[in-house]
Amino acid sequence: MSFVHLHLHTEYSLLDGACRIGRLMDRVKELGQDAVAITDHGVMYGVIDFYKAAKAAGVKPIIGCEVYVAPRTRFDKVHGIDNENAHLVLLCQNETGYRNLSYLVSKGFLEGFYGRPRIDMELLRQHSEGLIALSACLAGAIPRRLKIDDYDGAKALALEYSEIFGPETFYLELQNHGIPEQAKINPMLLRLARELELPLVVTNDAHYLRREDAATQDVLMCIQMGKTVDDPNRMRVESDEIYVKSEDELRQLFPQLEEAFANTVRIAERCNVEFEFGHYHLPAFEAPDGSDSLSYFRKMCRDGFEERYGSSSEDGSFGASRTPPPTMLSYRAVHFAAFGEADADPVGQTDDGRVRVSGAAADAVPVGAGGCGDGQLAAGNRQLVPALGGFDPVFPVPGQIHGLGQDPVHPDLRVGGSLRAQVLPRNDPSQQQKNGPEQQGPMFGFHGSITW
Ligand SMILES: [Zn+2]
Ligand SMILES: [Zn+2]
Repeated sequence: MSFVHLHLHTEYSLLDGACRIGRLMDRVKELGQDAVAITDHGVMYGVIDFYKAAKAAGVKPIIGCEVYVAPRTRFDKVHGIDNENAHLVLLCQNETGYRNLSYLVSKGFLEGFYGRPRIDMELLRQHSEGLIALSACLAGAIPRRLKIDDYDGAKALALEYSEIFGPETFYLELQNHGIPEQAKINPMLLRLARELELPLVVTNDAHYLRREDAATQDVLMCIQMGKTVDDPNRMRVESDEIYVKSEDELRQLFPQLEEAFANTVRIAERCNVEFEFGHYHLPAFEAPDGSDSLSYFRKMCRDGFEERYGSSSEDGSFGASRTPPPTMLSYRAVHFAAFGEADADPVGQTDDGRVRVSGAAADAVPVGAGGCGDGQLAAGNRQLVPALGGFDPVFPVPGQIHGLGQDPVHPDLRVGGSLRAQVLPRNDPSQQQKNGPEQQGPMFGFHGSITW
């Protein structure tokens, strides 16, 4: 192997990337490449699927993201000034890098969202450890300056990035998709590399697997922009070259740049993130009143629940005066499961339509509630999340149960409109490890949904 794709958009670059993860691994192996990166646009929710598929295929997964960097700070959101964010490819070298990237991406959504999830230079300075950065495509900050012949501006930015990331950790990225602007800026990137002694790396900004998939990606882009393929005025990608190319195809484009190919392999060797599945990764929490965390969580849940829906009687039923909203059945199930109040019966509907939750479910739900931040909303208590330190709702830790919902700290920023908590089936291997074989039972699942 002497080339690795380090800039690649999977299907999780929604309505843009068309590299289906399963087929991607076949394609990479077919090309004789034994590592590949995921760098979706601004998000990391494809990372676990990607990692598992790569491992299963015997391909080394490189975890990354093509983030958006705000032109000013992530808090500046003025129309006409802050619209043009810059792309930057970040790759995780190790667990510290993975945690930093997860943090950055979360901050991009929680604080920097303006059309796209955006971070800024301040965040990069604070959370660059363990990350390797590539200068990205024509929409990168440096290429943008070079496009308008601002070589000095590009140089200043290259210096700033290399100072943030350190030597041999910030790479100038070379792409050639037959786009005239790339032909214009590539010699300037080479000059920058020479003058600043920065390393180079060849990438292909892969958005689909094969050249013939360009039409499919074009349709995806149309859906994203609300245009038809026949619209003469729509924006289109000016190239059908952004596919998972072979090393030979790329070497023909950059015949003199052995070093920039060797660097793809060196970077791949330096990026080693391993996920551990089958274990919970609960954050430690000390209750302010000195009680144990479960009792405190239980109290907060009960308070929040009553605040929202009135008090419940001892057996968990509700007075006839308060009609539970349509989502109440799910809500109650999350509520009880989060309390750890195991029902003798497994999850399911009773004859009168009430939801019951099993002991296994009761074990599993607090993971969702504690780990994904928004899970606390299951308990209806908005105070709880800041009290617990506000976990990242998009922090994709393996083995956790994910929740999506309105950001409780910034209610005006809606990550989504609903909260979902999911209980792993009781015969899931990760559950068996936790519960031991004696608790294995038939498969039961629970999926609660709350909207408010
Ligand atoms: Zn880009
Ligand atoms: Zn890209």
